[in-house]
Amino acid sequence: MPDDIAKKHDSLGFATRMSHAGRAGTHVHGFVNPAVHRGSTVLQPNCESRRSTAKDRFNRVMSYGTAGGPTHYALEDVICEIEGGTRCVLVGTGLAAVTVPLMAYLKAGEHCLMPDSVYGPGRNIATGLMTAFGIETTFYDPTIDEAGIAALMRPNTKVVYTESPGSHTFEVQDVPAIARAAHARGAKVLMDNTWGIHNFMPFKHGVDVSIQALTKYVGGHSDVLLGSITTNTEEDYLTVRTAASQMGHFAAPDDCWLALRGARTMAVRLKHQEQSGLTVARWLEARPEVQRILHPGLPSHPQHALFKRDFTGSCSLFGVVFQRRYTEAEIYAFIDSLALFGIGASWGGYESLALPTTGFVTRTATSEDLGGFAVRLHIGLEDVGDLIADLEQGLATLPA
Ligand SMILES: *Cc1c(COP(=O)(O)O)cnc(C)c1O
Repeated sequence: MPDDIAKKHDSLGFATRMSHAGRAGTHVHGFVNPAVHRGSTVLQPNCESRRSTAKDRFNRVMSYGTAGGPTHYALEDVICEIEGGTRCVLVGTGLAAVTVPLMAYLKAGEHCLMPDSVYGPGRNIATGLMTAFGIETTFYDPTIDEAGIAALMRPNTKVVYTESPGSHTFEVQDVPAIARAAHARGAKVLMDNTWGIHNFMPFKHGVDVSIQALTKYVGGHSDVLLGSITTNTEEDYLTVRTAASQMGHFAAPDDCWLALRGARTMAVRLKHQEQSGLTVARWLEARPEVQRILHPGLPSHPQHALFKRDFTGSCSLFGVVFQRRYTEAEIYAFIDSLALFGIGASWGGYESLALPTTGFVTRTATSEDLGGFAVRLHIGLEDVGDLIADLEQGLATLPA
């Protein structure tokens, strides 16, 4: 009875639930996994059926390909299980999961609050299309408190966006406090929970709409782009689903199937990568070339107390700020010298990555200067000793 097992949120461990959630496939010929149902046309037995299925398309009544099918439903159930929500809308990329709820909750003449540390393309839609559509955005310091948000709220503020920790700079936000200030003035709280995954339960902390780039740890193999928008009330689900539907968003069934496959092993991968990430972060923190580490799970992180209060663990993505004396060319040479770290965007796969931060992020409400040249590391599933040895030979390329 996998569907019943999956409902016992609190009594079963995360890895157990990731093995059993969304296993509708077990009811079809006994196969463990659901089939990939590809399709545009869904044939109906008669015209009355055609009329009623079209009306119920947001309620798992198959009427047309874009309304989704069994492969989508299985993944939606798994994502709800991960985030503790009730309904989920799947879209083709993590970025679409950012933009759809923004467009769903905001209209011309309204106002949005966004953390300065927001994922870059999220900033781009705020300063681009949203501005063009007459929606104003104020960027705020991500470490803001409840009174700070309250002071920034206007009568027309309809969305308070959050992302914790922030992209590249890893500030942990006081999401419950921000949510209190937002809800007191009738705004919705959106959160990009890609870093937290299951280690931050958005709906227990006041979030209305939770965004995940499934591209990252859920997919886990750097072979799929996918996003999810999870809600906890029927009203929010319908608001998001209607906007996604109007804009023609869709998630390919093959990609959903890959994400389902990734989700089955995510608990184990994540635990391993969390430990390796902390090991590498601690090792780097003790190195003389390093000024500071931007990892919420380390006691040295400015919001470590908030992290401990609200998160049950970390993933393996963090920042390294080098001593100010190093030039861009020297840090580039360090990154280029690494044999086991790829140079590329995205994260959450099985392979380690290193990416320059400095020069690639925009901040307007806070300082872009982190005190030295910064690099973002993603720690994969390699043996951690090999990764440290690689970093050690890379650091040896830096001038004394
Ligand atoms: C990668 C990422 C996204 C977007 O995901 P894509 O699938 O690459 O579009 C959104 N938010 C955060 C925090 C990300 O890191």
